[in-house]
Amino acid sequence: MTLSALSYNDLPLVLARLQTLGELHAPLRGSDGAVRFGPLPPGAQPDLTAQRSLLPPKKYLLAPSETILTYHPATGYQAPPQPETPLILLGLHPCDLAAIAYLDRLFMAADSPDPLYTARRERLILIGASCTPDQYCSCHQMPSPLPATCDLFLYQQADGLLLHVESPKGQLLREALQDLLQSTPAQQPPASTRDHFGSAGVATSHEELDPNLPDWQQLADHCLGCGACSICCPTCSCFEVLEFGGLDGCSAERLRRWDNCLFKSHSEVAGGHSFQKDRAQRFRYRYRHKYRGYGQLRGLPTCVGCGRCRVQCPTGLDLRPLAERLERSTP
Ligand code: SF4
Ligand code: SF4
Repeated sequence: MTLSALSYNDLPLVLARLQTLGELHAPLRGSDGAVRFGPLPPGAQPDLTAQRSLLPPKKYLLAPSETILTYHPATGYQAPPQPETPLILLGLHPCDLAAIAYLDRLFMAADSPDPLYTARRERLILIGASCTPDQYCSCHQMPSPLPATCDLFLYQQADGLLLHVESPKGQLLREALQDLLQSTPAQQPPASTRDHFGSAGVATSHEELDPNLPDWQQLADHCLGCGACSICCPTCSCFEVLEFGGLDGCSAERLRRWDNCLFKSHSEVAGGHSFQKDRAQRFRYRYRHKYRGYGQLRGLPTCVGCGRCRVQCPTGLDLRPLAERLERSTP
């Protein structure tokens, strides 16, 4: 795959060109100091040095709340229409790319692809960007087996950007930017945080976690159950499905909205029974999903080390020491 050089001075021209090729979204710092992915206004500069966005890019693939199906006798069952214009996401860090690779496995499994997710994913063009880990990141401490795949990747260097083509979609973009790029003597992409992803040798465990470990209660004693850690996690993707009948008595709407395993309601079923009625149980459940995977993807850790949960937790809970102990000591 091809490497090209791009000077920081020419970045605005590249952004303007990308805006002619699709809808361009990138990290932007708001007046509140928080960084969010959103549409890049013409002439604006993305914040490519931002450590992490408030919400991860999963919001582009799984909306917080959305109608997924409607019914009316005149039209039958109908899925909501999806835009077809390419959506270019620029400035995704390797952890967020790895998270999308995980969501792809979950929602685009060959035997049961989710049609809404698949339509949105096919529209996306991913442009990654290198970054430097801070004290909240764990990608370098517990490398992820998930690959940080994308279409183009930008290596940020002191004297400019190195652009690496990584897919046929990326090759088309590069051709559209050709006159703004320079050749480079570099043959190989430089070392970066990306190297922590796609590590085939990461040991994972299928073992069940001991429900009697005192750690669950100790963690739960400090947890407020607010759910912020799950909302901001790029791989947390649990949802609930709600159905509403129309007042006309013959139409209906089906909604999907984010759910949260730290909420008591998440595991409640008919009759008032709950599978995770104690916070300690819910904490163990979350830990297991983050560090050991679940369902058909059991054994595949889903934490990509973005650090958002540690930044957002109002009581500063950090699962790293426990993961270090439980996962490193597991054969
Ligand atoms: S568990 Fe925390 S650090 Fe890991 S991916 Fe989720 S938000 Fe990021
Ligand atoms: S963000 Fe912290 S307090 Fe809130 S649910 Fe998660 S661990 Fe508990």
